[in-house]
Amino acid sequence: MATATQTIPIEKNVAAYVAKPRPMLINGKWVQAASGKTFPTYNPSTGEILAHVAEGDKEDIDRAVAAARAAFEKGPWRNITPSERGRMMWRFADLLEKHAEEFAQLESLDNGKPIAMARMVDIPTSVDQLRYYAGWATKIEGNTIPISAYGAKYLAYTLREPIGVVGQIIPWNFPLIMATLKLGPALASGCTVVLKPAEQTPLTALMLGELVQEAGIPDGVINIVTGYGETAGAALAAHPDVNKIAFTGSTEVGKLIVHAAAGNLKKVSLELGGKSPNIVFADAEIEGAIPGATNGIFFNSGQVCCAGSRLFVEDKQFDRVVDGVSQLASKIRLGPGMEPTTQMGPVVSEEQMNRVCSYLESGFSEGAKAVVGGGREGNKGYFVKPTVLVNTNEKMKVVREEIFGPVVTVMPFSDVDDLLAKANGTQFGLAAAVWTRDIKKAHRIASELRAGTVWINCYGVLDSAMPFGGYKQSGWGREMGHEMLNLYTEVKSVCTPIS
Ligand code: ADP
Repeated sequence: MATATQTIPIEKNVAAYVAKPRPMLINGKWVQAASGKTFPTYNPSTGEILAHVAEGDKEDIDRAVAAARAAFEKGPWRNITPSERGRMMWRFADLLEKHAEEFAQLESLDNGKPIAMARMVDIPTSVDQLRYYAGWATKIEGNTIPISAYGAKYLAYTLREPIGVVGQIIPWNFPLIMATLKLGPALASGCTVVLKPAEQTPLTALMLGELVQEAGIPDGVINIVTGYGETAGAALAAHPDVNKIAFTGSTEVGKLIVHAAAGNLKKVSLELGGKSPNIVFADAEIEGAIPGATNGIFFNSGQVCCAGSRLFVEDKQFDRVVDGVSQLASKIRLGPGMEPTTQMGPVVSEEQMNRVCSYLESGFSEGAKAVVGGGREGNKGYFVKPTVLVNTNEKMKVVREEIFGPVVTVMPFSDVDDLLAKANGTQFGLAAAVWTRDIKKAHRIASELRAGTVWINCYGVLDSAMPFGGYKQSGWGREMGHEMLNLYTEVKSVCTPIS
């Protein structure tokens, strides 16, 4: 590992923030867990404890849901004008931007991601999410509908109303982005929220909670309960007074959420796993495709649901692309998140590191070969080397299952129909990409791929305004863009005779 540089000094506020056990936000108050328990969160770059956080469970979820219900039914939130809601959200975004450096440092410490990435991607994207949805607060409209019932004259129209109390369960790969991405549309549409961050990375969501009151958002509108998935998360998913649950995480837990939600048939939206095909044709601009494919898998240590983890390369260019991606992978500066020159940090936890390494072992036992990488780096912190696997095929576990780590499998193809069958031959359908100079081919392949997002001659481009979500077992519903508002509103038809 290149360890040439120094870690940056931690800001005073951040050091003070992690020095004390962090309580949870319920009904505008910072409270301990009812049980009095706390749990540690770790710095993945060192494996040391970073902070202690309240361990919320069912009782705390009950308190938070009651607060969210009161804020929805009786509180000022319901009666605030859309314009005021939008202004509060914009203020919330401004405050986040004002504290950008603190949030970037806390994100890097808790998740392990490079501080440069947290500054450039995570915090600005979070601010943008809140601003984008702040704009929607005043634009959620129904329709007027020319109906023909019984040959009479009616005025018929629809109202779009907030769905109510929303539970939001988020993962650890982009902790703050996931929080703002979920909070934005909920707030814009007038819902109230109980947010449960991932137990591995609870800190930036909690720090965001510190800004809620200053932004003017009333008590009980945003509640943040930290705790484990099997206890706090499961209680939120099953809660009879929650109207909707929004979940991002593994497909396995997504299925548990669906079962838990069945009790009161709450609405469910899911953004789950992926095993996205990234397809490079021989007529592509190969010099662009090579870094595109490299970033497409190694960004965020491969802990990205839409990572381009299956790279298909037309056989004439196979060796060149494997060679190019492997060279770039071997040059990636792996290091602690808080070193400013780090390009790739550790994976989030010891458990995740062991999971990724056991996938690699399984790949090797089935005949895969690592051109570069192939296992853990060093013995301190949870580092995994960027790994390029060849000699892989669609029967192998490393090709079928989501690894969620810095591992790409590269496979050659010659026949397009066979390629499409393989690219689509997965339980997932989150994203895909195609690299070619042939416009017709690009759009034909884009239409044949069973995935919620298809990139042409680029990879991983996401935007607050562009819908994102999965076909098949990659999810239910589309987040981002105006599509996401459908997940947070109910449509009411109103109809009256006018003659
Ligand atoms: P990963 O396996 O990558 O850690 P998970 O899907 O387990 O991702 O976690 C995503 C989120 O789901 C986290 O906030 C976690 O606490 C939560 N979670 C895990 N298990 C459950 C469960 N049984 N019910 C509700 N939430 C859960």
